[in-house]
Amino acid sequence: MTASFDVAVIGLGAMGSAALAFLAGRGVRAIGFDAYFPAHALSSSHGDSRLIRLGYFEDPSYVPLLKRAYQNWRSLEARLRTEILTITGVLQIGAPDSKIVAGTRASSELHGLAYEALDKEEMARRFPAFQLDDHEMALFDPQGGYLRPEAAVLGYLRLAVEDGAILHFGEKVTAIEPDDAGVTIISETGRYRAGKIVVATGSWIAELIPQLKQAAVPIRQVVAWYQPQDDVATQPQRMPCFLRDEGAQGTYFGFPAIGVDGVKVGKHAHFREPIDPNKPNPPVNDADRDLLDSFIRKRVPAAAGLRMKETTCRYTMLPTEDFLLDHMPGEKNIVVASPCSGHGFKFTSVVGEILADLAIDGQTDLPINAFSFAKV
Ligand SMILES: Cc1cc2nc3c(=O)[nH]c(=O)nc-3n(C[C@H](O)[C@H](O)[C@H](O)COP(=O)(O)OP(=O)(O)OC[C@H]3O[C@@H](n4cnc5c(N)ncnc54)[C@H](O)[C@@H]3O)c2cc1C
Repeated sequence: MTASFDVAVIGLGAMGSAALAFLAGRGVRAIGFDAYFPAHALSSSHGDSRLIRLGYFEDPSYVPLLKRAYQNWRSLEARLRTEILTITGVLQIGAPDSKIVAGTRASSELHGLAYEALDKEEMARRFPAFQLDDHEMALFDPQGGYLRPEAAVLGYLRLAVEDGAILHFGEKVTAIEPDDAGVTIISETGRYRAGKIVVATGSWIAELIPQLKQAAVPIRQVVAWYQPQDDVATQPQRMPCFLRDEGAQGTYFGFPAIGVDGVKVGKHAHFREPIDPNKPNPPVNDADRDLLDSFIRKRVPAAAGLRMKETTCRYTMLPTEDFLLDHMPGEKNIVVASPCSGHGFKFTSVVGEILADLAIDGQTDLPINAFSFAKV
């Protein structure tokens, strides 16, 4: 007999684990599948830390979702009795008219969010780890900080199980067959039925949702950790998380010394190299190292000690670099969870709620009009 569920979640990374927890929390019979064991190194949800910030330069329309995400992160922590979100503040550094600085200011003002504008001298006094050019400045978002991705994914899976969900790890779903009554799910080892499914397969999304083959592009990302030269200046109390707008050279991001490996940095979208999700990520090479070593020496000299660790990860980009949270066109029983264009982790806690709403109620009160299939 084929096992039958109200909702099945395919992919238990960030978005899928949160969706499963919200579904189980609402009392539906839910099952989750992952091809590997979350939060594994081929996923997009590993590497110790993810930035969260409120004055969103990308578009002010994300701010209401972020406010809900903050609430939901705190609820997760309360239930797990562990810290997932740490506030350090986030510095957004660049020229006053740069996309990040001007965008953060506009977004913060529109939503009445607190921020501080700091010139080069004020930055040197308060946050001496950073090197600014004369014309540059920083906006300090006091509500910014970092999340622990592995703890969040595993935490959501724990809550899902506590609330009755079933987890199948190491089981890849190879096909989904929708009909009027629900969806048949075929995996490498079994066949299942569910009334609705949520597809949250990250960089593999186009395998089950072929409409996204052109639009959803997995790219390689690289991050590295550096031993501080100055242990005091790189502590979270003196060194907030940061984003740095280098104009045509792109955007860099980083975290203070929050673990034994030191200060972590990366460049948003790195070299924009498309990858095959079914092959191991191409390993870190000398061009990757040169890029990140040069950045840290020039812009965060207090952290420019030995490179302690390096790793690869994946972004899955949509043409708009926005999200996608919608039913599959023409399929009311299939909900598609965003490949989040490299900035989705901070939203995981609200995306999970949205996906559960879409699967159970067919709609959500949260503002997701910008994230429909029609926009992709
Ligand atoms: C280096 C790096 C830094 C980032 N920094 C930030 C940041 O600072 N702030 C921020 O907000 N965001 C950040 N992001 C983006 C964020 O991490 C991603 O948007 C998010 O992790 C995507 O989660 P996901 O659930 O979509 O994908 P994943 O976590 O990859 O999960 C997908 C899961 O689906 C499973 N799967 C795939 N196919 C199948 C199948 N057929 N059957 C069963 N299971 C399947 C996979 O095994 C995987 O576990 C960063 C990303 C990277 C890589």
